Amino acid sequence: MLKHRVEFRNVYFRYSETEDWVLKNVSFTIASDEWVAIIGHNGSGKSTIAKLMNGLLFPDKGEIIVDGIPVTEESIWDVRTNVGMVFQNPDNQFVGTTVRDDVAFGLENRGVERNEMLKRIEQSLEAVRMSDYLLHEPHRLSGGQKQRVAIAGVLAVSPHVMILDEATAMLDPKGRKEILATINQVRESQSLTLITITHDLNEITKADRVIVMNAGEIWLEALPREVFTKEKDLRAIGLDVPFVAKLANELIAIDVKLDQQPLHQKELLESLW
Ligand code: ADP
Repeated sequence: MLKHRVEFRNVYFRYSETEDWVLKNVSFTIASDEWVAIIGHNGSGKSTIAKLMNGLLFPDKGEIIVDGIPVTEESIWDVRTNVGMVFQNPDNQFVGTTVRDDVAFGLENRGVERNEMLKRIEQSLEAVRMSDYLLHEPHRLSGGQKQRVAIAGVLAVSPHVMILDEATAMLDPKGRKEILATINQVRESQSLTLITITHDLNEITKADRVIVMNAGEIWLEALPREVFTKEKDLRAIGLDVPFVAKLANELIAIDVKLDQQPLHQKELLESLW
């Protein structure tokens, strides 16, 4: 198994030569079995990172390696086979006239045999709880349902890396938690590398690691619970810590003890969440 699924080496990127760098010296690695959350204020460069990962954009300086392959104009088709992406607005991603056709699209492109295709469509729609909508028109679904179908379309082709770029934004908090939990199960069973991009710190709790972006640079790389302790610094870069984390920070600051044991932030977060 590859040690690093995704690697950014000193990546610089700007949308035009007359503008400032949108990404400045960004370096990180993501292992094949990891769930990494990338967070940051709007405009901090998160989506640009996602687009660089599957060759929708190319770095001006530095190197990006996915599944051992440097991402270049020549390699993008190999890279894109391995990297599935779901964006915030699923309307732009639908190609089929029914949910079934839509999920089938990526499989047809890969020449998947019919019986296998039907099985994968069924499994991926079940994973996102959309099995009852097989013959519905994607455009007529609610925002949350559309996002589920878009996610199913990516799950069906079994990519090595799945990037969700604000892809749960249209779901309510319960639906969001549910779908992230489902994808996490798929990740564990199929050794899928999961990268979730968000500006909502509620969504980083279950990730293995968090990369915090600010103004095109990596501001912090840490465990979710470490990120939550930086409440004031995060506020300064436009990010708000969830209520439960604020509560945990307050309780720890006043040295609350439960059953005479010092209260650790990790346990507190896990018990309240
Ligand atoms: P985020 O996903 O964190 O909101 P983005 O990666 O979308 O950030 O954007 C980073 C910066 O790049 C922002 O300043 C944004 O205005 C700029 N930007 C994004 N897309 C384009 C584009 N297509 N052309 C020019 N500038 C862009």
